[in-house]
Amino acid sequence: MAFKNLIDLHTHTDNSFDGHHSTMFLCETAYMKGLRGVAFTDHLEMDAFFRDSFDRTAIQSFFEVAKARSAFNGKLMVCVGAELGQAVYNKPVSEKLLDTMKYDFVIGAIHNLPEMQDFYYMDFSDESIDYMELLRQYFEWELKLAEWARFDTLAHLTYPLRYIVGKYGKSVDMSKFSEIIEEILVTLIKNEKSLEINTAGLRQPIGVTSPDESIVKRYKELGGRLITVGSDAHYAEHLGAGIEQGYELALKCGFDSVAVYQNRTPTMVPIE
Ligand SMILES: [Zn+2]
Ligand SMILES: [Zn+2]
Repeated sequence: MAFKNLIDLHTHTDNSFDGHHSTMFLCETAYMKGLRGVAFTDHLEMDAFFRDSFDRTAIQSFFEVAKARSAFNGKLMVCVGAELGQAVYNKPVSEKLLDTMKYDFVIGAIHNLPEMQDFYYMDFSDESIDYMELLRQYFEWELKLAEWARFDTLAHLTYPLRYIVGKYGKSVDMSKFSEIIEEILVTLIKNEKSLEINTAGLRQPIGVTSPDESIVKRYKELGGRLITVGSDAHYAEHLGAGIEQGYELALKCGFDSVAVYQNRTPTMVPIE
């Protein structure tokens, strides 16, 4: 099925340490690809905010995206966003940032446990790593993030599985976490926050979205209404990647619209 309102709400410019293309080039690419809108959500890792100069990144990214938003006015909806990593490890700085910057859209993410490296860099072939324990802690922090609730959408829930399962082929009994995942979903719903369908996993060995269908479906059953879909593109060629599959998954789970944010306020856009 071809969709007309293709909007990618999770992308990175070269203002992210792992991004590769400029904001203007990405806008031009998104427009050429026929996307209706895009949110630029550069990384701000709040547990290393000053140490790794994310304070400068925040300002650079904000103004470049705001400039692109006006340059593409009427051609492409551009949302000025940010992906706040580990905000709950550093709430005062995170809250101050959000009070200062007038974002359209904020993604809440967890990429690493406190004082540890990003799950992306971890070597799970090392048998001494108790990955089930790390996952348990990861979900505890996701719950704390959902309770904090100063973001708009919860990014890529189950992110570590991309590496533990996808890259290293470990088996994970997810039933061990169903209770806490349920709590996370209920908390998101209570706080009127979106759940993100992150499509990056579709182009990685794991081959499924984060979170996958079972969790998106459960969110809906529990009364969830707000879904965002994002490619997590770090390259121009990945802009919009998997958004159609994300929409199909949302439809399958009972959603007929996706949330799009401007000025931190959701608008429902029909999936059609
Ligand atoms: Zn992320
Ligand atoms: Zn991202």
